[in-house]
Order: sequence, then structure tokens, then C-alpha cells
Amino acid sequence: MSMTVKAYGVTGFNEPVKPVTIQRRAPDANDVVIDIKYTGICHSDIHITRGEWGPFPFPLVIGHEIAGVVRSVGKNVTKFKVGQHVGVGCLLNSCRSCESCKDGEEQHCTGDGKINGGVQTYGGQDPKENFAPTAGGYSQMIVVDQDFVLNIPESLPLDKVAPLLCAGITMYSPLRHWKAGPGKRVAIIGLGGLGHAGVKIARALGAEVTVLSQSLSKKEQGLKLGADKYFATADPETFTTLKGHFDLIINTVSANLDLNQYTSLLRRNGSLVEVGIPEHPMSVHAFSLVAGRRSLAGSCIGGIKETQEMLDFCAEHGITAEIETIPASYINKAWERVGKSDVRFRFVIDISTI
Ligand code: NAP
Ligand code: ZN
Ligand code: ZN
Repeated sequence: MSMTVKAYGVTGFNEPVKPVTIQRRAPDANDVVIDIKYTGICHSDIHITRGEWGPFPFPLVIGHEIAGVVRSVGKNVTKFKVGQHVGVGCLLNSCRSCESCKDGEEQHCTGDGKINGGVQTYGGQDPKENFAPTAGGYSQMIVVDQDFVLNIPESLPLDKVAPLLCAGITMYSPLRHWKAGPGKRVAIIGLGGLGHAGVKIARALGAEVTVLSQSLSKKEQGLKLGADKYFATADPETFTTLKGHFDLIINTVSANLDLNQYTSLLRRNGSLVEVGIPEHPMSVHAFSLVAGRRSLAGSCIGGIKETQEMLDFCAEHGITAEIETIPASYINKAWERVGKSDVRFRFVIDISTI
């Protein structure tokens, strides 16, 4: 039987988020029913509801950093049991047959003619939902196919682990892909939700970590998180001091930057990797890449296998997010504060307040 669930939803671009009710599908034999305890607020939630990424189906229940507890499981579910701590990130399903899916990179699913690509946790089209737009984690409960549910190690508190389901994996994946580790110099631009998770993970991987933030206002906290160095990008001296220094720069900024300034900070063969997705295109002069054989790349969350690997890595290293827990009634205010970079370092909604 389908279930009625309380949630917070949005009815159109730039509309406030408000209490709503939604229907969750009747679980099938492969589904896990999850009581959501905490959901993180990702800047993507804000880009989307402000119309900065183009059309999206409304009404929409947002949220893709979900941590909760298994309420029940279908008869074919072997990976999860009632009471287990579990997570759900940005994906609920994928075609499972394309090259990316076979490689465990469902975030790059190209589809099979029936499914168009990786099914987003909100606003996605899932055959398991009859292709109706999916509803995310600003809600009390969710039904997810077991193959897209993550195990949350018991040692990680559910509230602080929620942001790892998007922010954590979005940083872990490029750090691993570009081989951050001992002897590698890594810079992270922007010390917000993604940035602060990246600092902790890069440090645990053994890289030298530098934060490039707009100002020095969060320097003390940044160093405590594990950064070796901290520079203000508002200070032109930063770009002289750090010229040619980094093997890898990960840009988490949600707004446009002059990328040419940042490629100049790369060593020979270094890479600047975009994870931030600002509304407008950014331009790069060919000289910025030609000189020093530098690369400009992008990275999108991570596949299910790698997300589990990230959670296990974080448990091993005692890594969780720095959070400000809020009631659901504060979401609009929290979005406003994220828009002003006034967050240290992730808002997490206490779902019991819905
Ligand atoms: P966030 O918490 O708002 O952090 C972004 C940080 O960027 C801010 O804390 C700020 O850091 C810096 N910043 C903001 N506006 C700026 C400006 N005008 N100029 C310079 N720096 C500025 O956001 P988030 O949740 O970490 O997400 C960051 C971006 O990644 C968003 O665009 C989001 O949509 C995207 N994202 C991408 C993926 C992916 O798979 N690629 C996944 C999740 C999110 P300082 O105060 O330190 O300067
Ligand atoms: Zn996200
Ligand atoms: Zn696929």
C-alpha cells in the first residue's frame, strides 16, 4: 500500500518551501523503507529552486543528503535489515546496463532507452515511480531500491553523516580519481559544505591541503579541519605566492570565478577540477591550459560503490561534517544564509520537526 508522508516542498521557482504531504509508493520485494532522521541542505537545492539550472518539475520535494533507519525491507532484500542505519544520496536508480552502470558509475548513466540516465533523488524519473517526478529527503520517509541504499557505519552519528551522502562523495571521488595523497599539493576553493568535507578527506588521504577562501574569516576553523595552509582570494598577493604550486585544485564555488587566475596556480600537468556548478558559463583562455600542459575537468558526485567506500573511509578516519542542525521551519532562512556563504559548514534538517 502507498503511504502518505509529511514533507516540505516547493511549488515553483523562488517560492518558499512549505509543509506538504506526498505519497510514497507501495514497496516491492527489492525495496527498503527508510524512516528519514536527518537531511542535509546542499547548495544544489538552492540553485534548482531558484531556477538557476533550468526547468525542473514542480511541485518538488527537495533533499539528497539523507540519513535514516530501516523501517522495513522487501522479501528479496539481502543487504539491509530493520533498524539498520542507512543513507541515500543523489541517485535512486539507473539503467544498470550501460557502460557507466556496469563500471559502477551510475552518476554517469547514459540510459538504455527506457531510463534516460541516473535517476535523481528529487525531480528524477524513475520507472519504479511510473516516471512521476521523484520526491527527496525533506520528508519523513522514503522507499528506495536496495541497490541504491548505502550502509552507514554505526560509529558515525546520523546527523553529521547526512552531508557526506552528497558533499562527502562529491569531494572524495575527484580526490581519489586525481590521486590526492602523500606528496600531492591540493587546493580547495570555497570553504562551504563541499569544501570543508574536501579538506577533511584530502587531509586523511595524506595530501598537503590549502584552502582558498574569499577572506580569512574562517581561517582558524579551516586549519582545525585539517588544512595546512589558508589564503584569501581577495588578496592579490595570494596569486603571486601560490603561482605554479598545486597538483590539483578543486573548485567548489557556487558562483563564477575567473578560472584563468586559478589555472596559474597549477604546477606542470596539474588539474583544475570543477565541482561547483554556477548558473552562468565561465570562460578559460587557451593559454591558461596550454602553458604547463594543464587540465580543466569536472566531476559529478560518485557511484554507489564509491559512495559506500567513502562512508567506510570516513568511519575509519572518524570523519563527519560540521553541522548546524535546524528545524524544518528554518529551511527558508537556511537557504538564504547559504546564499550569503553564512554557513559553518552544513545545515542539517532534523526531520522529527516536520
Ligand atoms: P556552499 O556550502 O554554499 O559553499 C560554496 C562556497 O563557495 C561558499 O561557502 C564560499 O566559500 C564560496 N563562494 C560562494 N559564493 C562565492 C563568490 N561569489 N565568490 C567566491 N566564492 C564564493 O555550497 P555547497 O553545497 O558546498 O555546493 C557548492 C557547489 O557545488 C554548488 O554550485 C553546488 O550546486 C555544487 N555541487 C556539485 C556537485 C557535483 O556533483 N559536481 C555536488 C554537490 C554540489 P568561502 O566563504 O570560503 O569563500
Ligand atoms: Zn548535493
Ligand atoms: Zn546506465
